[in-house]
Amino acid sequence: MIPGPTNVPWRVLQAMARPIANHRGEEFHRLYNEIQEGLKYAFRTKGDVLPLTASGTGAAECAISNFVNEGSKVLIPVNGEFAERIATSVERVGGKPVRMEIPYGKAPTTELVKQAIDLNKGIDSFFLVHNETSTGVTSRDLKEMAGLCRREGILVVVDAISDLCGEEIENDDWGVNVCFTASQKCLAAPPGLSLISVDEGAWKRVEERKAESRSFYFDLARIRKYHERSEIPFTPAVPLFYALSEALKLLKEEGYETRLERHRTCGQALYSALDALGLEAYPMDVRYRSNTVLVLKVPEGIDNSRLRGYMKEKHGVVISDGMGKLRGLTFRIGCMGIVSRREITLTLTALEGALRIQGWRIEAGKAAAALESTFDR
Ligand code: PLP
Repeated sequence: MIPGPTNVPWRVLQAMARPIANHRGEEFHRLYNEIQEGLKYAFRTKGDVLPLTASGTGAAECAISNFVNEGSKVLIPVNGEFAERIATSVERVGGKPVRMEIPYGKAPTTELVKQAIDLNKGIDSFFLVHNETSTGVTSRDLKEMAGLCRREGILVVVDAISDLCGEEIENDDWGVNVCFTASQKCLAAPPGLSLISVDEGAWKRVEERKAESRSFYFDLARIRKYHERSEIPFTPAVPLFYALSEALKLLKEEGYETRLERHRTCGQALYSALDALGLEAYPMDVRYRSNTVLVLKVPEGIDNSRLRGYMKEKHGVVISDGMGKLRGLTFRIGCMGIVSRREITLTLTALEGALRIQGWRIEAGKAAAALESTFDR
């Protein structure tokens, strides 16, 4: 129950136990095309979605090295560790991050984005971390923000690493130009691949770019040429492609909306149980609390690492420490991939036990009743 890598279904694991296909042969072309169909479904796009042999950070670097030019102004709401990383990476390629400082625990609003655009003339692109895995905040106003940026001719780039297929993101309908995720989160595949969608508007920018991409490995112009013949310029992690293909079949079988609903129900059930236990979620506003990563404040008198150690040792439930500035002050529960009532109930039982032995007063059955009633509703 960490915020990725998540549990991987057996069907997906077993798909990897196959001979390695020639990555320039027909078998791989078929696999690539199958994956392409599945990714369009997952990303809600008719455009291209490119699989990269790299963890999620690779996709972020790909977006930055292709869409940020020397001196170009990049608007970034900074409300957590991952947004900080984007700002740092933009600087490294010579871009100018225009940081919108948002207190940790809060989400950027469309109004704030509008103010920042009005105040800083010549913004070239807008990079948003949709689900801040370090704070448990989901930016649920992406649709409006993307609309605003598009009207201003600003490229919209979204890091959906920890919530694509766990929270609603309609890339084509909302006008998102570039979106990326990683295999090990809500898609419930093993770690090692990242996926990046590129729409027509973004391809136009690649075509018009005067300088070459800052990155050789992540050069989208080169990747596109190979993509057109169902290949990748370099050697792909073939077993992970088998796994991803199977994971995407599972997504199709379950249905996109059902998968979103399952994440929402599991997240909401767990929040209601944690409220009943007297724990406090880190995000300040209920509307922006993430359903895929739950970040909780460590209550006074509770030892964070002892809490997590007990859950693992006695119940086999692994959750994470807080991240960055919130390390030690919060703990994080991943609610992604193949989570269901079973995993959520087990997590609650483990957490209750871990709190009880540290003297936390618990009203017997109250949290479980809150959990059950959310699921039953
Ligand atoms: N961005 C977000 C929002 C993430 O949650 C993560 C990882 O958890 C990353 C970027 C980095 O991804 P990776 O660790 O796969 O490189």
